[in-house]
Amino acid sequence: MHFQDMKDNFNILQEEINQELVSCGRKPNSITLVGVSKKQPLEKIITAISAGIKDIGENYVQEAEKKFALLPPVRKHFLGHIQTNKSKELVQLFDVVQSVDRSDAVIALNKAAGSAEKIIAVLLQINISQTERFGCPKDEVEALADLIRLQPNLKLDGIMAIGPNTDNCEIIAQAFSQAADFYNKIGGNTLSLGMTHDWRLAIRAGCTMVRIGTGLFGSR
Ligand SMILES: *Cc1c(COP(=O)(O)O)cnc(C)c1O
Repeated sequence: MHFQDMKDNFNILQEEINQELVSCGRKPNSITLVGVSKKQPLEKIITAISAGIKDIGENYVQEAEKKFALLPPVRKHFLGHIQTNKSKELVQLFDVVQSVDRSDAVIALNKAAGSAEKIIAVLLQINISQTERFGCPKDEVEALADLIRLQPNLKLDGIMAIGPNTDNCEIIAQAFSQAADFYNKIGGNTLSLGMTHDWRLAIRAGCTMVRIGTGLFGSR
């Protein structure tokens, strides 16, 4: 993809996001767009950053390790399943870990962040979908949030969730609304909801961040 195509893609997507925000009574440019660059070639990611993307999301530690060394400065989000034996690499590579969904991951991340003398921003990933394997079960969210708040080297910034894998908008909207309720209870400044196929519903549900891969970079 050429620079101009990527810049156009990015601008069109920003414009669509702003239209959706305005159409539901929200301010334009009031949410963060994370470009999900897993399985995308480095040139495309560099192009997206030159076009104005400021946040990049990755799912795999090894893949991120290879790419990040070659990227201009950008905020880096980890979106994948946390393997506790990769905690050291996680806190070195990423600014935000969005996929904290269980207590052993909390303990391991805090320990690694302590050794690195870093404070890592984290989101608590909630499972709001029957089709999703990962994420904290709803009835354990408050206890996990309390545990995160006790960790000196972690900062709980809010909630992340992956919508149900369905075309049924009502089911997705209902799940997103549950995530928004948890966000209101838990607090923070980030409600990370919405991907290529469901970001409009996420904006309607009040998200402050969307994570878009294919809709920005093309298929992978
Ligand atoms: C891959 C991924 C995305 C982006 O998905 P697209 O459908 O390509 O937009 C967003 N969030 C998470 C957690 C992901 O794993």
